[in-house]
Amino acid sequence: MSNINTEEVSARLRLKGIDVSRKAISITNFNGSNQEKDFQEPANCNGYGRVRHFKLSASDGWPQNPLPILPAAKALGLKPDSQIRAQVFQNSICNWRCWYCFVDFSLLKGDEKHSSFLTADELIELYLREEAPPPMIDLSGGQPDLTPEWVPWVMESLSNKGLRDKVYLWSDDNLSNDYLWKYLTKEQIDLMLNYKMYSRVSCFKGIDEESFSINTKASPELFRNQFKLCKRLIQTGFDLYGYITLTASTKTDFRSVVPRFLDELQTESEMFPLRIVPLEVKKYSPMTKRVDSVFQDMIDGQYIAIKIWEEEMARRFTKEQLNVPITEVKYK
Ligand code: SF4
Repeated sequence: MSNINTEEVSARLRLKGIDVSRKAISITNFNGSNQEKDFQEPANCNGYGRVRHFKLSASDGWPQNPLPILPAAKALGLKPDSQIRAQVFQNSICNWRCWYCFVDFSLLKGDEKHSSFLTADELIELYLREEAPPPMIDLSGGQPDLTPEWVPWVMESLSNKGLRDKVYLWSDDNLSNDYLWKYLTKEQIDLMLNYKMYSRVSCFKGIDEESFSINTKASPELFRNQFKLCKRLIQTGFDLYGYITLTASTKTDFRSVVPRFLDELQTESEMFPLRIVPLEVKKYSPMTKRVDSVFQDMIDGQYIAIKIWEEEMARRFTKEQLNVPITEVKYK
């Protein structure tokens, strides 16, 4: 099967995902989706939102996940707990098709049957109408950075409602495009940089060209582009964190590719690996029909990769550095 033409697909989906004149974003409605089957609580906000419990704990042998618990607790001035409730909204478009995505692919193509255009004010009003709105909002996807205006629009709305210092904002990004710099004004980027209650996370989708391309269906050349975009986000000044999915064929030469990944990342920012959390890929309902023997093998491969990742991290950083809370790592 041919790879996705990321540039062309991104441009086409952006047109379906944003109404700039109305300042509205196409937001997924979860009602009737496969993704909904995995929710701990029913969808809220008339089907356009969901509450997610982010947890620190992980499976045996897998590192804990402090994201977004520690950054949120720090911003909100709270003692970090083992979990945090977050209000999640998803934009309805994504330019890649990761086989392990926990979102139905039908919710990633701007399909009007599963989404509606909502302004930031409309979203925040739905959120505030809930009985106990969580202290944190996650602008997720999809790929939110196909419509990067979403974040500053929500910031404006929260600020206008007097919530700028009360609600922590978090957004995701798949490191696939430069739309943030292409479509946002300097004022919008400055708003994001100066917004104390905001951090963002970028997800690396593989440990080498091959695993990246199989994971995302994007061209293998875009593997290296992830590092460049990550560096640009750091240089722009964002409070940035990272995830990585380590799914790769069990035949991968992990002892060679994992160090190479970290070498490459460290040439952009020596300490940034300490801001990255490996994500364990587990089976969610929308994935069941996608996982064949190739993908099952990649799920198995991640358990080899994580051991080498941890060995490499221990070789590159001291115990003290590894124990620094993720929010306090000096990476810029
Ligand atoms: S980039 Fe994210 S939203 Fe898009 S397909 Fe991959 S996992 Fe799903």
